[in-house]
Amino acid sequence: MTEPVHVIGGGLAGSEAAWQIAEAGVPVVLHEMRPHRTTPAHQTEGLAELVCSNSFRSDDFEHNAVGLLHAEMRRCGSLIMAAADESQVPAGGALAVDREGFSARVTARLEAHPRVAIRREEITGLPPQDWDNVVIATGPLTSPALSEAILARTGEGALAFFDAIAPIVHADSIDFDLAWRQSRYDKEGPGGDAAAYVNCPLDQAQYETFVQALLDGPKAEFKDWETDTPYFDGCLPIEVMAERGRETLRYGPMKPVGLTNPHRPGEKPYAVVQLRQDNALGTLFNMVGFQTKLKHGAQTEIFRTIPGLQNAQFARLGGLHRNTFLNSPRLLDRQLRLKAEPRLRFAGQITGVEGYVESAAVGLLAGRFAAAERLGAPIEAPPEVTALGALIAHVTGGHLDGGKGSFQPMNVNYGLLPPLSAEGPKRGEDGRRLTPTERGRAKKRLMSLRALEALGGWLADRRAAA
Ligand SMILES: Cc1cc2nc3c(=O)[nH]c(=O)nc-3n(C[C@H](O)[C@H](O)[C@H](O)COP(=O)(O)OP(=O)(O)OC[C@H]3O[C@@H](n4cnc5c(N)ncnc54)[C@H](O)[C@@H]3O)c2cc1C
Repeated sequence: MTEPVHVIGGGLAGSEAAWQIAEAGVPVVLHEMRPHRTTPAHQTEGLAELVCSNSFRSDDFEHNAVGLLHAEMRRCGSLIMAAADESQVPAGGALAVDREGFSARVTARLEAHPRVAIRREEITGLPPQDWDNVVIATGPLTSPALSEAILARTGEGALAFFDAIAPIVHADSIDFDLAWRQSRYDKEGPGGDAAAYVNCPLDQAQYETFVQALLDGPKAEFKDWETDTPYFDGCLPIEVMAERGRETLRYGPMKPVGLTNPHRPGEKPYAVVQLRQDNALGTLFNMVGFQTKLKHGAQTEIFRTIPGLQNAQFARLGGLHRNTFLNSPRLLDRQLRLKAEPRLRFAGQITGVEGYVESAAVGLLAGRFAAAERLGAPIEAPPEVTALGALIAHVTGGHLDGGKGSFQPMNVNYGLLPPLSAEGPKRGEDGRRLTPTERGRAKKRLMSLRALEALGGWLADRRAAA
């Protein structure tokens, strides 16, 4: 008799993990606390309940990274994608679902699976020692008793209860005719780099217009149950700083000191926005200290008024939410196991990904890793050129840890994938010169095709080994 793998949490990630384990031929016990205990956001007792929007976002696998992730997951036999496809409702190029039908399908398929046992119970502490292979997928609203046990096991600063997300920009969309690279006072970082930051200069008029736009811009509200979670230490939203005084930002994240603009060396900038490299690939930069609750449309509009960011493409926009997530780059190995206690594997939003699809994707991989380990034939993650591989590489190591608490949740995006080895096409099939937008789309398409080919190879290797 093969001992079961235990999966804690029957949300997007846990349901997918349980399915992958069972389909690999390994018994699985899925522990879900609802309906006995619920979270502030869940309303039903169904597995894989969608707590807010009913959209899985774009289904365009050629030009959108989440569409690519859909395609990869379908090829891996994903339960979440199968149930989503069967529950689809009209939504243009997006994949949106009938939320009740979707959750009912996931629940029914798992209940009917001969190797899946579902236990409706809360796990209130670290699992008993005789559970030697566990996937913890309890999500952004992990119950307090389990969160406290994880916190005690991982240590202070390793588990966050709020995210404070600053926007992230694709490096190749920054205009270096206006911006420049330099660290404050040319100070060398640990890697010996004295030009680690990207700087965007504002004159007085631009700064004042910018501050006014922050004050006037529409903000997202906190939910009732979010207001009692403290977040104000060290991560004030920029609009709250702006409310405290017109000059506050100039003495905070936008201070212009220790920097010389090589494009105008004789002129001192009135304020400077700094961006710091966010991933090891060097394709993404985050706006330092720019966590915000401005609505997404307003963020794009206001941040593009910053000189050097006028054409910025955002890999992620800012936000602040109640969330439970690990400092995964420090704590987890490439198999998503807690380095300090490898019998415990994590999956879903708690690993620091963001979104229904990304959470399910990490569940899919955790399930496959756990099953392979139980069968005595551990597997590697998919190659980094795939969306699945890029996501897990980012969570478990690709993110540059620029300081305590700098790891923040992330949606999948092309900036996580290694760039193409050659420059993307400059002309279309008809010989016409492509516009910058068309070139961007052509590049994404090539990255998607590269990803699907690499995933095909990885899946073929798995089949050959089985
Ligand atoms: C309010 C809110 C709105 C969101 N809106 C969106 C959105 O619109 N679109 C989007 O893409 N993403 C959204 N997200 C982000 C995220 O993608 C979802 O939260 C997603 O459901 C995460 O998947 P998961 O499997 O990690 O966690 P969940 O889907 O939350 O699943 C975790 C499961 O674990 C159970 N559980 C928790 N603790 C225990 C325990 N101790 N024992 C047993 N079971 C336990 C919970 O009941 C739950 O069923 C939202 C998040 C929140 C909090």
